[in-house]
Amino acid sequence: MGNISENLDKVLEVLKDSSCNLIAVTKTQEIDRIMELYHVGFKIYGENKVQELCTKYESMPKDIEWHLIGHLQKNKVKYITPFVTLIHAVDSLDLLKEINKQALKHQRIQHCLLQIYIAKEETKFGLSRQELYELLDNEIFNTFTNVRIVGLMGMASNTDDQDQVRSEFTGLKELFEELKTGYFKGDVHFKELSMGMSGDYHIAIETGSTMIRVGSAIFGQRNYVV
Ligand SMILES: *Cc1c(COP(=O)(O)O)cnc(C)c1O
Repeated sequence: MGNISENLDKVLEVLKDSSCNLIAVTKTQEIDRIMELYHVGFKIYGENKVQELCTKYESMPKDIEWHLIGHLQKNKVKYITPFVTLIHAVDSLDLLKEINKQALKHQRIQHCLLQIYIAKEETKFGLSRQELYELLDNEIFNTFTNVRIVGLMGMASNTDDQDQVRSEFTGLKELFEELKTGYFKGDVHFKELSMGMSGDYHIAIETGSTMIRVGSAIFGQRNYVV
């Protein structure tokens, strides 16, 4: 494996002719290593844990765009709403309600993605299609003045079966288009589809991702499973 900035260039090269963006996933990485990317001008990072996100936000330059990509608990929302650019994994009305409350306190419109469950595994978080529509159709949803749903996020099954992954991503893309031309029709902000990680980002780009979240393909294997 090459060095970090060479790895970054390889991923950016794949994205070059697409309208897809990269979130470099920095979880478990030391600040010195992340700064190698910062110094070559790359400043969009994702963390999956609130604590680690806050620690890195505090100690790193303030022109970095931080994304929370992992599961978020209600009681931790308040720590990230002052600064987080995008919350990728919103999966309940309750959570959205808390995000709205905290965003209001900070006079911000908090951008969020709704996480959709697309994998075969039981362990992944996210809404089913039915739960998604229940959330959107709940009258409370329309009272949230300080959250903006800018798209969907999903994680494919952790499998070598490329057809399986492709069909999961394609299903998510179809749901995304259905909302874009249906529920969110005319809403210019609803435009992001966050899907694709180190092992499957090529397929994600082909199937319509607008944001890939890539960690180990840039930083190398993490030394523990998160
Ligand atoms: C860790 C993580 C990623 C990146 O995983 P890699 O396989 O290292 O690219 C992407 N999305 C989420 C939600 C993650 O937790």
